[in-house]
Amino acid sequence: MTDKNKLVVLTHGGAGSDPAFADGTAIAGQMSMMSLQTGEPTIDAACLAVATLEDDGRFNAGIGSHKRSDGTVQMDASCMDSSGTFGAVAALEGFKNAVQAARIVSQSEYKILAGRGANQFAADQGCQTLSPDQIVGTGTDFSTTDTVGCVVRAGDEFACALSTGGIDSAIPGRVGDVPLIGCGLYAGSEGAVATTGDGEAIAMKVTALRAYQLIEQGMDPKAIVPTVIGWFKETTAFGIIVVSKIGFAGGSNRGMAWTASEMLH
Ligand code: ASP
Repeated sequence: MTDKNKLVVLTHGGAGSDPAFADGTAIAGQMSMMSLQTGEPTIDAACLAVATLEDDGRFNAGIGSHKRSDGTVQMDASCMDSSGTFGAVAALEGFKNAVQAARIVSQSEYKILAGRGANQFAADQGCQTLSPDQIVGTGTDFSTTDTVGCVVRAGDEFACALSTGGIDSAIPGRVGDVPLIGCGLYAGSEGAVATTGDGEAIAMKVTALRAYQLIEQGMDPKAIVPTVIGWFKETTAFGIIVVSKIGFAGGSNRGMAWTASEMLH
């Protein structure tokens, strides 16, 4: 067995999520790991974990999405892998699994679809709809964000995925870091990064790409996590999960439900 056989999955339930909900991130991680074991592409394994968390209801994504100031729910989601595949949706309304729509965008000629066009695209592609009464919605605590994410490794291949209902009570149309390449997430030949927290702050620091550059410089993920958390004020919710060829790590300046598993295949 060599590192070429190594499978790693990390899942998070967002900066500020209750660490007691780690059973949810663990189940999502198991689904993803099983998918890797059957040889599914890393990006599909990452999206499966995120879809499982969207369906959980305890996190700010999918059926658990926070409401906007007008009572609507708009979701952002994205996915990326080390072969250069990327897709995202922004301000998507009325669909159960925004990450599924992001994955389909990644297979199209486009990279990011937003608003009305994203809704039409998701409908045309047969994505499962979500009626307002199916949304359980989570929390109204402005200091937490609770979105969901996943990073995976299968040998030399890496991928990541994210999904969020955004910041609670933000105005409709607000889009954070999640659908922005290099901000909320990044995957390349050396590893993958997924972040969570205050999307405006994360985007302005181009956080995921800069964290990935630390991987390229040979830094251990266990050192990258506290380094990147240190880029943010303590009052700014932030969390991150990282996997590379050296190892993996996760952490947050809030409580955060997150889990990791690895195995040789
Ligand atoms: N980063 C997300 C956003 O700002 C929220 C989160 O990660 O919890 O939309």
